[in-house]
Amino acid sequence: MVRHRFLLVIYPAQGHINPALEFAKRLISLDSHVTLAITIYLHSRMVNKPSIPGLSIVTFSDGHDTGFNAIAGGDEDYKLYASELKRRGSDFVADLISSSAKQGHPFTCVTYTLLVQWAQEVARGFHLPSALLWIEPATVFTILYHYFHGYDNYINEKSKEEKASSSYSIALPGLPLLFSAREVPSFLLVGRPSFLSFLLESFEEQFQELDKETNPTVLMNTFEALEAEALKAVDRVNMIPIGPLIPSAFLDGKNPNDTSFGGDLIQDSNDDGYIQWLDSKAEMSVVYVSFGSYFPLSKRQKEEIARALLDCRLPFLWVIRDEEELSCMEELRKKGKIVKWCSQVQVLSHASVGCFVTHCGWNSTMESLVCGVPVVAFPQWSDQKTNAKLIEQVWKIGVRVVEDEEEGIVTGDEIRRCVEVVMESNGEKAKEVRRNGEKWKIMAKDASKEGGPSDTNLKAFLNATLLSTMND
Ligand code: UDP
Repeated sequence: MVRHRFLLVIYPAQGHINPALEFAKRLISLDSHVTLAITIYLHSRMVNKPSIPGLSIVTFSDGHDTGFNAIAGGDEDYKLYASELKRRGSDFVADLISSSAKQGHPFTCVTYTLLVQWAQEVARGFHLPSALLWIEPATVFTILYHYFHGYDNYINEKSKEEKASSSYSIALPGLPLLFSAREVPSFLLVGRPSFLSFLLESFEEQFQELDKETNPTVLMNTFEALEAEALKAVDRVNMIPIGPLIPSAFLDGKNPNDTSFGGDLIQDSNDDGYIQWLDSKAEMSVVYVSFGSYFPLSKRQKEEIARALLDCRLPFLWVIRDEEELSCMEELRKKGKIVKWCSQVQVLSHASVGCFVTHCGWNSTMESLVCGVPVVAFPQWSDQKTNAKLIEQVWKIGVRVVEDEEEGIVTGDEIRRCVEVVMESNGEKAKEVRRNGEKWKIMAKDASKEGGPSDTNLKAFLNATLLSTMND
């Protein structure tokens, strides 16, 4: 019996390594071998290097072995970084593919996450099947696909129209939803901050790579019931939902010890005790606040969040990654729990957590869905504004904060209003989002269990690619 040997190339970021490791675990459970190619920096930052039978980790230098901060540098810095990553990464991956073949262990398929689209080009050079592991929703994939296939001017013109932020006038083929300018990925819009143009260029290259494929295949961290229309919206691309990519303990429970992705990066923290702290709180009483692993909030915005949390008079667990002291830090520490990092899936699955104030990163969104936790959607950039729309208007599992248009921030009063709406136990909206949360939690688990649609899709993909490799 021929065994699949996957090469999985990922961009060095927490939001990429988590779903990628989960994907690797699925492949391994289906008797494949996985080689994970990551940068030296990412590997050095992993708290517990995963040691999973069937998984090999190989590292390469992107020229920044002590790290590179895409947001802190300017656009030009990022472009230089991206071209080095591509040059060094492509050479490394090409050498690895040929040396593995020479040693009698040829790869059967190359998969890769966002921002390392060059991996697809390398795979094509070796006539190897490849698939993009898309770690955002299918809806965002579809919006971007259309943007790069003739709808760029349309989206830009619509976003310039008067009241663009509140009128739902952007209609795209195959998507049943109408979008306002504040709901499409922010880097698409004219007037974006210059540091966002690197994302636009990367995505453009990604879609050009897919265009060069005869059967472009995208494995998606979503599930059929969640995004049925979007998954069928682009005829030319084979979108295969295989999610949610979340540790087994929180899904089918088949592997109760699998409680973490295994890819946590060092966060310079001494945050123990938050689970015991949660244990001491009443059921569904805690407001959990986190803005992911990456994007920095302004000090002013953090002050507004702090005010809202203190005014709500509910217990809160707040992840603040950077050191910056806020004016009411002492009071915050007295009334709630402040940490620099936590195991988010463990927190979200804790019975004390009543709502999640989130930046709506796609991993965080899937994690709240799987754990059935009501959401206060507080999107910042990239795909997060689209994700927030899905949360509020489609799945109806939360409410979205509204920015103060003049100041460009969300006021403490607005944050408090949203938290109270989802936390008020007898409120109609709170009941609705909890009901829907329970519904989606069950559907997410059904999708990924053995014999469920995501599991079946992944098995079919494995069989099809293995066949194509053998016929070559
Ligand atoms: N995460 C975590 N602890 C934290 C903050 C984030 O474990 O304190 C994890 C979270 O569970 C998720 C990932 O980091 O899997 C963040 O990915 P997401 O797509 O939500 O946002 P990003 O960090 O990419 O903006």
